[in-house]
Amino acid sequence: MHQLDCDETAERLNLYLDRELSDADVVQVREHLSECPPCERIFDFQAEVKRLVRKECCSDDAPARLREWVRNLSAKDPQPPA
Ligand SMILES: [Zn+2]
Repeated sequence: MHQLDCDETAERLNLYLDRELSDADVVQVREHLSECPPCERIFDFQAEVKRLVRKECCSDDAPARLREWVRNLSAKDPQPPA
């Protein structure tokens, strides 16, 4: 079976988070994440941002709090690879 590399995984993360991947792709992404801590961190980060945006999109103070949260997180974590 084809093993995804980090670039291929990164390309699929958004689709994965939006549940728009095929079952076969989901399995491959999960497999890569389980073996690649840096990609797993990026995945966790993106999943959390998406979750917060969905949950707090309707409250007035969401943008400021979200910005601060993201700033705190990116201050202690390296930037995801381009
Ligand atoms: Zn990786």
